[in-house]
Amino acid sequence: MSIRFYNTYSRSVEEFIPIEGCRVRIYTCGPTVYSYAHIGNYRAYIFEDLLQRHLEARGFQVTRVMNITDVDDKTIRGSREAGLSLNDFTAKFKKSFFEDLDFLRIQRADQFPEATDPSNIGRMIEMIDELMTKDIAYQADDKSIYFRINRFPQYGRLAHLNLDELRPTSRVQSDEYEKEHIGDFALWKAWDEKDGQVAWDSPWGKGRPGWHLECSAMSTRLLGPEIDIHCGGVDNIFPHHEAEIAQSESATGHHFVRYWLHCAHLLVDGQKMSKSLGNFYTLRDVIEHGYTGREIRYALLRVNYRLPLNFTFDGMAEARQSLLRIDQWLERLQDLAGDATPEPAFPNADTFFVALDDDLNISAALAELYDRIRATNRAMDRVELTPGQAAALLEWWEGVNQILQLHRDIPSATPEVLALLADRAAARSEKNWTRSDELRYEIEKLGWTIKDTKAGQKLSKITANK
Ligand code: AMP
Ligand code: ZN
Repeated sequence: MSIRFYNTYSRSVEEFIPIEGCRVRIYTCGPTVYSYAHIGNYRAYIFEDLLQRHLEARGFQVTRVMNITDVDDKTIRGSREAGLSLNDFTAKFKKSFFEDLDFLRIQRADQFPEATDPSNIGRMIEMIDELMTKDIAYQADDKSIYFRINRFPQYGRLAHLNLDELRPTSRVQSDEYEKEHIGDFALWKAWDEKDGQVAWDSPWGKGRPGWHLECSAMSTRLLGPEIDIHCGGVDNIFPHHEAEIAQSESATGHHFVRYWLHCAHLLVDGQKMSKSLGNFYTLRDVIEHGYTGREIRYALLRVNYRLPLNFTFDGMAEARQSLLRIDQWLERLQDLAGDATPEPAFPNADTFFVALDDDLNISAALAELYDRIRATNRAMDRVELTPGQAAALLEWWEGVNQILQLHRDIPSATPEVLALLADRAAARSEKNWTRSDELRYEIEKLGWTIKDTKAGQKLSKITANK
């Protein structure tokens, strides 16, 4: 069965056929490092993580680039307000971004290019040069360079805008604007005093790049003129991705992106979670409520990426319950499986993966997982599941968890606990039950419980469902 994705460009579900065999090139718009990312941003990054992991599970070899926007209107404004250089200002947000990725078990992209990297600035200047030569870009009276949108007839196709109705006339300097203010957009912004020390030399004078150009430059430099998939949140469709298509295709002469995938927003009380509305939670805020990385990951992952997801703490509590159910099921399976050899070809259907083939239908995939949990729990109640089948289910879970990354953290026991455990094993082999019970008590005092199974003693940490 083939993989299908909803392509924003065509507004339809299409079969996924990469440009080059089983190699897939993905570009994902990364964070603008002017403050801590909010969990809405992480919904987008977790959706992209699911995308990559599923493609890999299906045998594709994925190369992914995620940019770091470390110069734009917002970072410059932030650094000025903080009285710091741009680099010093963005450094701490870059650092926290990478910590958050690990905390949420998001697989790292192959590269995280930074817009201020001289090679990327060089590529931006090269692209503008190309566009100037073709007379698609021009320098205005304000010394900034603009992209002439009427020289790119496809402009507006991604966002499905009708330019005749919108009648663009103006020029826009800022990076973000509504479609009512459509116009020639800035590729290079001439230095003004608000930019302070932030400036690069160019053939058109001192200045800095526009945000849209940054992504075109980093994508084409690192992944080539045409890529398979480009992702972001729906807010990126216009003007950001629309501008990326115009710049990249006009400069390189190649088609830019095969599949455009956009995730719907994380909402708070029905409104987009965003910094500008002030209705946002950072990851740290949710952690302070006592939630772990995998619980937050699950809460952001469990709804199909194209559906808006409302963030609530009730939803977080539900996520915790769902994970507890998975944990308990795995524990039962482990107890039953012992060291049995997995029964071949069991379970026989890979319905979980097939559900994800359908435009990453995670709700259907999770429903398959819970059906399996329900059915096998029932079979275990009736003592109908064999140890070999339990072992096979655990093996199946390994593959599922490779995508979901929801397995409980396995805390490692201290050498002291391990030594007591070894003593207890010896006492039990001598049938010294009194000593065995004493040692169990000692181990419990150190925060661990023991279950005696056919396969031997099973140690687990005493925790509050985390
Ligand atoms: P930014 O740092 O604002 O450039 O955003 C980084 C990524 O997060 C982009 O792909 C945005 O589309 C995405 N994003 C921003 N807000 C939300 C939200 N509330 N829900 C989902 N994705 C979002
Ligand atoms: Zn971008």
